[in-house]
Amino acid sequence: MDKVDSLVSKWVRPEIRALSAYPVPDATGYIKLDAMENPYTWPEELVGAWLERLHGVGLNRYPDPQAAGLKARLREVMALPEGMDLLLGNGSDEIIQMLALAIDGPAPTVLAPEPTFVMYKMISTFTRVEYLGVPLGERFELDANALLEAIDRYSPSLVYLAYPNNPTGNLFDEAAMETVIDAAPGLVVVDEAYHAFAGKSFMDRLGTYPNLLVMRTLSKLGLAGLRLGLLVGPPAWLAEFEKVRLPYNINTLTQVSAEFALEHHTTLDAQTATLRDERGRMQVALEAMTGVDPFPSAANFILFRVRRGGGADRVFAGLKERGVLIKNLNGAGGSLADCLRVTVGTPEENDAFLKALAETLDTV
Ligand code: PMP
Repeated sequence: MDKVDSLVSKWVRPEIRALSAYPVPDATGYIKLDAMENPYTWPEELVGAWLERLHGVGLNRYPDPQAAGLKARLREVMALPEGMDLLLGNGSDEIIQMLALAIDGPAPTVLAPEPTFVMYKMISTFTRVEYLGVPLGERFELDANALLEAIDRYSPSLVYLAYPNNPTGNLFDEAAMETVIDAAPGLVVVDEAYHAFAGKSFMDRLGTYPNLLVMRTLSKLGLAGLRLGLLVGPPAWLAEFEKVRLPYNINTLTQVSAEFALEHHTTLDAQTATLRDERGRMQVALEAMTGVDPFPSAANFILFRVRRGGGADRVFAGLKERGVLIKNLNGAGGSLADCLRVTVGTPEENDAFLKALAETLDTV
């Protein structure tokens, strides 16, 4: 094994060896409120119709490389603007990777306000792109001046603005975002992964800014298992990114199933509406608790800080002991010290979480 280890350290890049793989805890047996999934499955009759559709699908052939049927349905259901093109990824994670592979600049650099979605940084590392995080303000608001300064200084090839942001849940100020888009010399991707819960979008500004793209995913809508992300923007940009897309990245089962799901989007929309109501209920309940401070959220999760310094790890463990798994962000440190993030689940799951949290806070 020593021989293998020495070969690994000689031939694998040090920055990769220094990384930890994206952590996904085993959630078996827990009430799973850690990953911003939609907790609902489909009604039986819809499952039946879906299986019937799959029945006619041949897996012996490669998928449609253009996913034409699925794209047409996405255009219609998401009301994509005329004249804009569409690029599909195996989750928006894969789109982030395609962008990182394609961008240029004197020193290709990705910039994002932090804390934000960790894959912007991780994928930059994988692809030998510089990554620069610019701190958000005290309440996780966009610090436009700090961003403009960093843009001026580092001339980033690509800026990510998650709208709403993960893990903080807030929507950045629109005017501040527009200032950033105006000032950025390269691309700005507004990542609308949580769009369905926010009701606000930069989609209608596509074309107004030549450097603006909008990214979305079906993951948070109830289709996380399918892995489908999309990037929307001017054809000249997307034509270049198409070249680094692997030819069959959207598999046949995903194409057929996503198209089917979008035909029945009213079911997903109703689930999303319930989750938005539940988010409001949880926000009120968390605000009423003395031990925690929740941050406002326009997404399907809520970030909250445990008031007693150092208590977040114990609260996380206490919830786990009571069968509820959420996300502990305390380890990230900085502005996320003492912070935990809970995904909005079904009313029953949310009640179980709130009860477990109240019990746990009594003991820490
Ligand atoms: N963007 C943001 C802001 C996210 O939080 C996530 C997932 N947590 C993604 C993109 C990636 O989503 P997916 O790869 O499932 O499409």
